[in-house]
Amino acid sequence: MTDKNQRFATRLVTAGRAPIHQHGFVNPAVHRGTTVLYPDMATRLAVGRNRYERNLTYGLTGTPTHWALEDMIAEVEGGTRAQIVSSGLAACTAPLMAYLSAGDHLLVPDSVYGPVRTFANKILKKLGVETTYFDPEIDASGLAVLFQSNTKVLFLESPGSHTFEMQDVPALSAVAHAHGARVLMDNTWGVYFFQPFAHGVDVSIQALTKYVVGHSDVLLGSIATNSEEDFRAIRDTVLDLGHYASPDDCWLALRGARTLGVRLDRQMESGLTVARWLQDRPEIARVLHPALPGAPGHDLWKRDFTGAPALFGIEFAPGYGQQDTYRFAESLQLFGIGVSWGGYESLALPTTGTITRNLSSRFAGHLVRMHVGLEDPADLIADLEQALDRLVKSGA
Ligand SMILES: *Cc1c(COP(=O)(O)O)cnc(C)c1O
Repeated sequence: MTDKNQRFATRLVTAGRAPIHQHGFVNPAVHRGTTVLYPDMATRLAVGRNRYERNLTYGLTGTPTHWALEDMIAEVEGGTRAQIVSSGLAACTAPLMAYLSAGDHLLVPDSVYGPVRTFANKILKKLGVETTYFDPEIDASGLAVLFQSNTKVLFLESPGSHTFEMQDVPALSAVAHAHGARVLMDNTWGVYFFQPFAHGVDVSIQALTKYVVGHSDVLLGSIATNSEEDFRAIRDTVLDLGHYASPDDCWLALRGARTLGVRLDRQMESGLTVARWLQDRPEIARVLHPALPGAPGHDLWKRDFTGAPALFGIEFAPGYGQQDTYRFAESLQLFGIGVSWGGYESLALPTTGTITRNLSSRFAGHLVRMHVGLEDPADLIADLEQALDRLVKSGA
């Protein structure tokens, strides 16, 4: 059992654990199973059929391994309950399905995680839901005029995970609520540095794949809620769609969560060290790290967040072309070229090709997304130094 008065690092260690129910072992067991056997019909009939309660009836509705992780995530997000699904993307799409029907309207920031845009443009459109994309740095009055009588959902993601624009979540949420809409937020970047329910969000989504798992080896998503009404809406849709997550994967996510506090503290510090070093390089025009003073969105970050993960962008100076950013990434030894993030290893990803919207009005230079892992930052900086030193402007 956790105590809300305890500090976060303590709660990460205690959440979702009940050794008395697991023969005294520290970690919960992996419960693999489909069928649950009943000793007699009386027991069968006594098992509740309420799908919102934790009844052991069939693997698809959850096991104690799922529940332990759900308790942990509710704790991380500062909500009351959570639902685990098979991927971060499923954690984005299931709530959209829960709240939207034919004829409804959805508002999404232009910087949203790409596959969510694809889902809106293909599946939601086919089902008769219309989507409007808005400037991710919009203010409350700008957002207010985009609401229609049929707007049911405001989807937020702050910052955008490629371009790092911050949103004024409390102000935008207040506009949505005034128009009777629900606020869903992808809080993967915020992890536990941003407490969504304290800032007006109704449903908080995380790709656990990233920092909670932390080891680049499991795909998993969570949907956290802070009211029974929202939990029921999500739970109904998840069960009706047949979403499931492997208990082995839930167990790995729980194991990752136990070290989340130290990993994130270290990665935040190393990320800022590397970001500050990059800021002083002539090849780099801007470092897009919301926790850096002077970076875009820094004031909002400072007001609403208690920390930052180690995912940020760098914008190259004029004269460095797309091919130059490819050469930069290829000459790094410690940074891999790869999508995803939140693992223990560093990554550098030129963003060209991964973003479908037009970025030319916002960025003059080419972008590379950086993720700083658990390597020693001095080695990472030495690696960046050799890669930048050999870079020549080609403009191509
Ligand atoms: C990776 C990611 C997702 C999707 O997570 P998967 O587990 O890969 O499906 C969603 N949102 C953001 C911001 C992400 O970075």
